[in-house]
Amino acid sequence: MADGEVTTPADVGAETDKSPAAVEEASARRRGAGPKRGDGAEVSNLDIVRHHFELAADRLALADDVRVVFWTPYREVTVQIPVKLSDGRTHVFSGYRIQHNGARGPYKGGIRFHPEVDVDEVRALASLMTWKTAVANVPFGGAKGGVNCPGDLEPSELQEIARSFMDKIEKVLGPNRDIPAPDVNTNAQVMAWLMDEYGKLHGHTPAIVTGKPIALEGSYGREAATGRGCVYMFREAAPHLGVSPADTTFVVQGYGNVGSWAARIMQQLGARMVAVSDANGAIRSDQGIDASKLQEYLSAGGTITDFDGAEEIDPDDLVAVPCDVFIPAALGGMINEHNAERMRCKVIVEGANSPTTPAADRILRDQDVYIIPDVMANAGGVVVSYFEWAQNLQHFRWDEREVNDKLGTVMRRAYREVSGRAREEGIDLRQAAYLVGIERVVEASRTRGYI
Ligand code: GLU
Repeated sequence: MADGEVTTPADVGAETDKSPAAVEEASARRRGAGPKRGDGAEVSNLDIVRHHFELAADRLALADDVRVVFWTPYREVTVQIPVKLSDGRTHVFSGYRIQHNGARGPYKGGIRFHPEVDVDEVRALASLMTWKTAVANVPFGGAKGGVNCPGDLEPSELQEIARSFMDKIEKVLGPNRDIPAPDVNTNAQVMAWLMDEYGKLHGHTPAIVTGKPIALEGSYGREAATGRGCVYMFREAAPHLGVSPADTTFVVQGYGNVGSWAARIMQQLGARMVAVSDANGAIRSDQGIDASKLQEYLSAGGTITDFDGAEEIDPDDLVAVPCDVFIPAALGGMINEHNAERMRCKVIVEGANSPTTPAADRILRDQDVYIIPDVMANAGGVVVSYFEWAQNLQHFRWDEREVNDKLGTVMRRAYREVSGRAREEGIDLRQAAYLVGIERVVEASRTRGYI
């Protein structure tokens, strides 16, 4: 293709052969080794969230017209992001910002850069944020954003996409309107570019995004917060399940920000990681894999399957490794009807969003696996985002201990409220969390006079 010619994501890299197979292969090559959604998942992320919403809405006897308000997003913005990548060609990506519900406060939710991002996935993730902020009881609504770009871009390419995306969505954002944060393939650096771009138009506004670098008014403890929150939830559940964190074995699926922090903090409690995967493969060692050393090794450019002292396993077999706690921290649909039966864990702590399909949920319930669901387990990220936002609005900074202590208080309270409800009604934590979340959003909407 000629220099400067415009391509869409579907034909990225397709030089002459435009057959669907060639296009798919070329696109996969360009995408590089990014995490991939569970191939065998029988349903989409949107189906998953919708399923749980409808079950809870039935239990709460929500009228049909009220359901529509809570199911459909308030605002959806789709933008074109044309970017010249290092191959010299202009690629046109699609960017989305979907604001699901703002009854409880400004819209809040991350931005993911991933080739599989599409409008339905962002809708699903945006609504999950509405219920998640309500379960954690932080004063935000729910939103999500995404760009369907490759997961393995050069820093200069990433920066261009981030700035272009911000230019196109800034009108619907604001510290009192909608506050983005990191998600899959975005990090503190990307948040710094987003804040800077917003600042060019509106003046310095640190509270416009959370998950920023410490040097740019980010919060201590934010980077580790999602993983730490998962561990706090597990620690709260452990005594009731007869497991002691110090004697626990665990498996992590996806060694990105959430998985690696959850693993390091589990290890500080004395727990042992017996298997782990990332987009490049999976490894196992019954003696234990050092979570901190693995993190250092991967950050230095190492490949997981070459890590010393562990044996390589087929990533599909990761779910079957016997352990006490399995932490899915990759993409949606990774635990599905095709592999749930093979799981040999007692507890699942969902670090990822929508990792478990409803069919897998049923299978695991029959196997007596206790699931701490995404909508509460991984809320630590948005809880510390709330702390970061509050610090930014006051131009004040808390130390890390204060952040972690406050995070612990919020996570424990959420666990107690949801598990209490689950006991009262004889339902699982996921259903109970949806009930608690939806009730709070309904109450805020009624009080405002929306419904
Ligand atoms: N992306 C994270 C999530 O899914 C964090 C969102 C935020 O901090 O706003 O919960």
